[in-house]
Amino acid sequence: MKIATVLRKDDYTREVCRQLREKLLQPDCPFRFVESPEEKPDMVLSIGGDGTLLEAVHQYGFEPAYVGIHTGHLGFYADWHPDELDEFVQVLTQRTEPVIVEYPTVQCRIHTKQGITYDKWALNELVIRNASLSTLVACVYINGDEFETFRGDGLIVSSPSGSTAYNKAVNGALVHPSIEAIQLSEIASINNQAYRTVNSSLVLPNHHEVELIVMNPEIMIGLDREQGVWKDVRSITCRVGGEKVKFARYKKLTFWSRVRKSFITG
Ligand code: NAP
Repeated sequence: MKIATVLRKDDYTREVCRQLREKLLQPDCPFRFVESPEEKPDMVLSIGGDGTLLEAVHQYGFEPAYVGIHTGHLGFYADWHPDELDEFVQVLTQRTEPVIVEYPTVQCRIHTKQGITYDKWALNELVIRNASLSTLVACVYINGDEFETFRGDGLIVSSPSGSTAYNKAVNGALVHPSIEAIQLSEIASINNQAYRTVNSSLVLPNHHEVELIVMNPEIMIGLDREQGVWKDVRSITCRVGGEKVKFARYKKLTFWSRVRKSFITG
């Protein structure tokens, strides 16, 4: 089995990775560590936080199965704690069959005014904001029909697993990752006698499409960890991605128990 690692850049995380390699690489072990996507790992170990896992999936894509070891607090994508390295090594060496769970992504197509299109995807979310502090103005179309004109700080289109991230901070709903959907949420919309938005998050099923027609000459686009200023964007269309990210689960940790632990009991 070929294993790749993606690490948060701190000494503790590097030490956890060193210990893990030492425990796994025993004589005659069936594991080999690889260093790049070209070497096609079967499994990618993300050691760090949920942010590290986002980095890993953008580096290694949809083929491998991901396992997260969290060197901070319990993660939404990470199942294992560094105290459990021996148990983790045991399940791998005993070739325990993991449950493979697949998380939907957000598929985004960015269209420029010059007619160029860029295909992007996100495991957590797409975010658009105006590039300066002034208001973002975007016409929202759903399945080709005009829905509203948004004015405010920004818009988020999140996946189910991203619903616990930025989307939650703007009071979006938490969506179980087994539901194939995207969620459109507002960041500080202007609602007064002149301007009006629905002012609620919208959950759209598979095959529905949301189109954001951008009125600002420059916007900030965020895709998970990646962010940048884009000029002359005409529109962005988003739908549930055709590809899912695979996670290898060796222990039962339900989505709702993670939600409870992260946000209620700590
Ligand atoms: P960051 O600003 O360093 O960390 C953002 C926080 O979001 C971290 O605590 C991270 O967990 C957590 N997180 C990431 N994915 C999550 C998920 N699916 N569910 C629950 N929490 C999650 O940024 P980053 O580490 O590069 O992560 C990028 C993400 O930050 C974006 O995708 C966006 O969702 C989120 N973000 C949130 C806000 C907000 O809540 N107001 C604003 C901007 C961006 P770890 O500590 O385990 O890495």
